[in-house]
Amino acid sequence: MNFIPGKNWFVQKDVVNSNREFWGPYCGAVSLSFDDGTANQLEKAVPLLDEMGIVATFYVQPYGDDWQTVYAPWKAVAAVGHEIGNHSIQHICPGSYLGNSDGLEDRTLDEIEADILAAQQRLNQLVPHQQQWTFAYPCYCQFVGKGRTRKSYVPLVAKYFLAGRSAGEYGFGNNPRIIDLACVRGIPMERMSGFEMIGLVEELTHQGLWVILVFHEIDGSRLTVGSYDFLLLLNYLQRKRDLIWTAPVVDVAKLIAAKRSLL
Ligand SMILES: [Zn+2]
Repeated sequence: MNFIPGKNWFVQKDVVNSNREFWGPYCGAVSLSFDDGTANQLEKAVPLLDEMGIVATFYVQPYGDDWQTVYAPWKAVAAVGHEIGNHSIQHICPGSYLGNSDGLEDRTLDEIEADILAAQQRLNQLVPHQQQWTFAYPCYCQFVGKGRTRKSYVPLVAKYFLAGRSAGEYGFGNNPRIIDLACVRGIPMERMSGFEMIGLVEELTHQGLWVILVFHEIDGSRLTVGSYDFLLLLNYLQRKRDLIWTAPVVDVAKLIAAKRSLL
């Protein structure tokens, strides 16, 4: 089916119904994900989530010689049920962003694989109890090289992780029956009001989709969301907990993988 703007941008009723059946007692699922493992998240996001009894996914980037000290607080975050995810060590983005010549355009698949596995070794030490892992693509990018030699590193992520989270077009969630778990789409939340975040979750989960929200900071200086807006969203999710399943990326991916193996 082709998209014809203005004609068929809406998910058809039979697709909505079959998606909603997928989730059992819920109409859809939502995951709250946080990238980069920042001090701001430890200070602002984790306490609010814990107060509201909502568990999230934190994609941590354990870099530096002192990573064991700097990232030690994440052990306590994992201990209360939050998912810790892999966000690589070097966080390699397109070189064109900052004008450097060692970005994704100039890297090989082997280099990306080595960086991801080195991060995973550290994360396994940090959170040894966690059995299954998911990955978040740094800068949402999934490629190395350029032009005719450009390659996707999604197959690498598929080899090592239950799921990989990228980002996609605004306003679309993940269809649980079709989505490639190695490249699920998140929606960046920066600068959104609480009402807009709630609207997105309400609409997309009622289409029977899995909505992954991507946060960086709360009341922070970069890619931020206000704490009032964040709390509005958490209140809404708590109030709707019997209808909308809020769970870490790994838990939703696990359910999707298990159900699809039976289909
Ligand atoms: Zn990042």
